[in-house]
Amino acid sequence: MPHPKNNSLRPYNTFGMDVQARKVIRIASIEDLKSVLQIHRPQEIRIIGGGSNILMTKNIDAVCLINQFSGKSIVRRDDEHVWVRFASGENWHEAVQWCVNQGFGGLENLSLIPGTCGAAPIQNIGAYGVELKDVFDSLEAFHLESQQIEIMHADDCHFAYRDSIFKQHAKGKYFILSITLRLSLHPNLNTSYGGIQSALDNQGILNPNIRDVAEVVIAIRKSKLPDPLIIGNAGSFFKNPVIPESLFQSLQKTHPHIPSFPAKDGVKIPAAWLIEQCGWKGFRDGDAGVHPHQALVLVNYHQASGMDIFALSEKIITSVQQAFNISLEREVNIW
Ligand code: FAD
Ligand code: NAP
Repeated sequence: MPHPKNNSLRPYNTFGMDVQARKVIRIASIEDLKSVLQIHRPQEIRIIGGGSNILMTKNIDAVCLINQFSGKSIVRRDDEHVWVRFASGENWHEAVQWCVNQGFGGLENLSLIPGTCGAAPIQNIGAYGVELKDVFDSLEAFHLESQQIEIMHADDCHFAYRDSIFKQHAKGKYFILSITLRLSLHPNLNTSYGGIQSALDNQGILNPNIRDVAEVVIAIRKSKLPDPLIIGNAGSFFKNPVIPESLFQSLQKTHPHIPSFPAKDGVKIPAAWLIEQCGWKGFRDGDAGVHPHQALVLVNYHQASGMDIFALSEKIITSVQQAFNISLEREVNIW
């Protein structure tokens, strides 16, 4: 059966893919969720926040729930910390800005990441040396099968680099309702990463506060990353690979300038560098391309299909594998 045209997901994904859902339903309360589950099985449901980490490659034969849970509250406070709960449909960057305005530290490096608060735990969002797990206290999740609300702490979520149980065995099983973050009243700034300190130095800021760091992060990101409202994208398409020390040493012989960072189980290589070395930076085939300023970001210039972007990602994976013997893994969720 062809899908009716009024269920387009185009407004709900930052790649701007014009695919059809079986049904689109806005969800703002547990009652809304329960009434959907009176009609549909959990397996028929997909959850969408800001749609900034999804590549839709075909029509979605599922009921797509658009998260509109709203609200925030201060849960408790002691001399050092404050615990703030955000409903899952709240915009992430607005939540960060609100915390910065209150003087609550810990989120400033995570400024300007698109999407919702409820999606932040899914891939343990991270940027500039900070990850969600560093400030995470707990979340409330609605189990779609049992219709019970569960509280999960960091240990339950198995956070790792761009990963959590919600991308593994708990995938598709829960609707995250809220997150509670533990923020600092006496922030320790992390300015060592990716040009933050040099930007502060250039501006003559000797004793930065959390607002200074947030503003520098916002400025760097605006200068490097394409705005999805102008060019469709979902941020970094691939994860940065962590390779064994032995492979790194052999690559260093052939590529003495290969950039690297120490990682938990080996050596992290920036995927953007690998992709650039293979000649993809700025590549364009029709409306599918690799961003000219950031090779990790695949873009839809206008009319590319999800399959066009996916096919381009396959070619990139193959060429990096052939040139470096490294398997790139997609970060974006493929639907
Ligand atoms: P969506 O794309 O809507 O959903 C992502 C996944 O989470 C889907 O599988 C969805 O089903 C699931 N999901 C969403 N909400 C819920 C919920 N309430 N309960 C259960 N499951 C849910 N990511 C980073 O980590 N760091 C960055 O610096 C970063 N920069 C970006 C820059 C740009 C320009 C763009 C476009 C993206 C960037 N991203 C980054 C990726 C993305 O913004 C984040 O992963 C973000 O958390 C996704 O939020 P979302 O609400 O858009 O999730
Ligand atoms: P960048 O600062 O130019 O750095 C390039 C790469 O080197 C990044 O992949 C980063 O790894 C790594 N790196 C830089 N300094 C490091 C350090 N001191 N220690 C360890 N690793 C270091 O990167 P960028 O593209 O402009 O992005 C800046 C930050 O925003 C990065 O943290 C990036 O992950 C994040 N970001 C994420 C997305 C997304 O969609 N996931 C999109 C845009 C930006 P890491 O990526 O592991 O941090």
